[in-house]
Amino acid sequence: MNAAWMGVYGAVWGSFAVLVGVRLPQGESVVRPPSHCDGCGRGLRWHELIPVLSWVLAGGRCRTCRATIPVWYPAIELATAVAFAVAWQQWHWGLGFWLAAWASGVLAALSAADLRYHRLPDVLVWSGVAGVLAIRLFYRPLPWWSYLAGGLAGMGLLALLRVASRGGMGLGDVKVFGLIGLLTGLSGMVLTLILASVAGSVAGIASAATGRLRPDHRIPFGPAIALAAMGVYLYATPWIGRYWGMH
Ligand SMILES: [Zn+2]
Repeated sequence: MNAAWMGVYGAVWGSFAVLVGVRLPQGESVVRPPSHCDGCGRGLRWHELIPVLSWVLAGGRCRTCRATIPVWYPAIELATAVAFAVAWQQWHWGLGFWLAAWASGVLAALSAADLRYHRLPDVLVWSGVAGVLAIRLFYRPLPWWSYLAGGLAGMGLLALLRVASRGGMGLGDVKVFGLIGLLTGLSGMVLTLILASVAGSVAGIASAATGRLRPDHRIPFGPAIALAAMGVYLYATPWIGRYWGMH
């Protein structure tokens, strides 16, 4: 198996994660009904369900009603594809790979829910924490306390930021940083926060400049956190592990 093939699996996984993130907050099943257009309700054919490719070939619109399909659908699928390919090169079938697969799926679903409903559903966050904890019992390139401290300090820091921003940051973001700490460890969590702040600020300034700021003025932090956390997990974890002499 080469990394490109693993990327294809990652795109399919990302596509499922988007479905979960879009359907779960509505109380809908992730199995039924089959995928359909949100505009006209028409069921999608097999060739309209290919991650990334279908969106590009259809020009980002439904073929029947011309309703726009948001660009973040293929963007999230592409991101999980890259995460799978990089994780495969790094760990092959090792636990580090399975952790990347689980985390990328949960973070992709959270990003979709955040972009669509401006919400980070608890059930997704806790599922994420449960899965990451289970793998962390057996796989720790860093000392165990780094993950625990990362989770606790992450939630503490975000709670402070939430107060300072007067609710500009959601309670969901606070919980998500507990998950991030368990995933990346203490130093990785701090790095994630810095990278996500930069990405979130750029996105915030861009949307303010184009007059497309959200009516609730909440910062679109979810996808920025997800991207930063996966970047740190995939690239910084081995590096930080070596620094600690534990890799
Ligand atoms: Zn349609």
